[in-house]
Amino acid sequence: MKFVESSNQAADYLRQAVPIMVKYNIPPNPLNYALWYTYVSNRLPDLNSELDKTLSTYGTCPMMVSEQLFRDHMLRDELESAKEMQTNLIALMNDLNHQADETVRRTNNYSEVLQDSLDALNETEHERLPLESIIQNLAVNTEAISSQTRLFQQRIDEARAEIDALQAELMQTRQDARIDPLTNLFNRRVFDAEIEQLMGTAVAPQITLLIVDIDHFKTFNDHYGHLMGDKVLQYVGKLMKELTQEPSLPVRLGGEEFAVLIPGGGIDQGLALAETLREKIQAIRIKLKKSGEVISSITASFGVAEFRLGESVEDFIGRADKALYCAKATGRNRVERAD
Ligand code: GH3
Ligand code: MG
Ligand code: MG
Repeated sequence: MKFVESSNQAADYLRQAVPIMVKYNIPPNPLNYALWYTYVSNRLPDLNSELDKTLSTYGTCPMMVSEQLFRDHMLRDELESAKEMQTNLIALMNDLNHQADETVRRTNNYSEVLQDSLDALNETEHERLPLESIIQNLAVNTEAISSQTRLFQQRIDEARAEIDALQAELMQTRQDARIDPLTNLFNRRVFDAEIEQLMGTAVAPQITLLIVDIDHFKTFNDHYGHLMGDKVLQYVGKLMKELTQEPSLPVRLGGEEFAVLIPGGGIDQGLALAETLREKIQAIRIKLKKSGEVISSITASFGVAEFRLGESVEDFIGRADKALYCAKATGRNRVERAD
């Protein structure tokens, strides 16, 4: 069990955890509460030192970091149990396999028993065994085969129940309302929450924002089709994931527009990332199966802004947007730094 404290002790932890969460602008969701509850309980010293380090770097605990720490420190037991579930499933499959072999072997035996009984019945009356013995032999073997088949059916039902549970679990993870299903990146909702949390801290935060918009994407869709367009979006999402590390947060803002939020990163880091992304997107080559044509015209434009103390979320995003607009107006396939 994770939490074994008495009610009084738990209430005491609550009184300690909540002010810390308020002070560092940490959203009081269940995941964060579990982290900070554990923090004040001093139960996992490694977690505490990582949380302390995160607070002194960012002035808060960005969501990407919280989730990682939660996975690393709090979910270890659950991951163990997922492993256990996998082991159980393998054992079940092995058992099923064994039962299937056994069923086949017994079915073959049974078929021999049937043949022997037929042969026995066809003997001349003079040499034939009494009918009672033949029937008795058939009854014993029929009972054996039918209990074997019942056992096999039961094993199959158990396996199906386990597989159904796994499938349901998988569906659940796919239906996460925070994840864009095409690119698997976090969506605008997560972006909005994260930027608000980062900017609401008491400590002056260093944050850089990069907004990306694919160039002439409408024309691309018109020319190559919407599905090909989707493939491009998927690929750009993959590039963004590969080129960023936590706590940076790559998101799909919507349509053909993406962003990366870089907590603790300055404008130079943002510009460098944008330039790398710009080059990688420009280098995308897609060979069309039908015509053999190689598409090499995909580019994107970038606006990069570093947060200025005192400005609002809207102004911050507005400056990055303006820089993006400027990159578009001055020829596209460019990175523009915000004023
Ligand atoms: P600009 O260089 O000025 O950004 O031109 P643009 O054509 O990229 O911009 P515009 O805003 O005119 O068009 C955006 C296009 O993006 C229109 C829409 O068909 C396409 N788009 C938006 N979401 C999706 C999507 O999920 N899949 C595909 N394939 N296309 C999309
Ligand atoms: Mg756009
Ligand atoms: Mg566009």
